[in-house]
Amino acid sequence: MVKIALKIKATLQSIDEVKPSGQDFRWYLKFTCSSCGEKSEKWNYASLSESTPLQKRNAVTHFTSKCKLCSRENSMSILEDTVKSYKIEKEGEFQTIVVFDCRGFEPNDFSPRDGWIAKTENHGTTFTDVDLSEGEWSNYCVKTKQVVGIYEVEHKFERVK
Ligand SMILES: [Zn+2]
Repeated sequence: MVKIALKIKATLQSIDEVKPSGQDFRWYLKFTCSSCGEKSEKWNYASLSESTPLQKRNAVTHFTSKCKLCSRENSMSILEDTVKSYKIEKEGEFQTIVVFDCRGFEPNDFSPRDGWIAKTENHGTTFTDVDLSEGEWSNYCVKTKQVVGIYEVEHKFERVK
């Protein structure tokens, strides 16, 4: 069991906060099997809204996959209370937005895709369903009359002790 933090970094333009939209948000990931080192080719997603109970422990799993090479059954959980916003206060730095509890494999790639919420500064518009597929997004806030945007989205994984 390994805890892996997903950290993102972005440049924010007149945006205070970016966060995943909630229970239905899909974390698109690729995994590496810890037993044999096999890297998955395709994207898979894990979502808090799609879980199955784990038999052994008082926990749930949000994604399960059988390794193609070694046939090991691997699984992971999204630790719900670790889901956090990317905030303007530490803009330009990597900030943890979620921690995954991994059993048998670890994520090696992340695709942000869509379903993000972005809040405009000065109580401007809250944009829902922001699409970060291209690594950037921009719009216009009619309340504060300014261009808003999220640019240069990067990510990395870090083991949590
Ligand atoms: Zn394997």
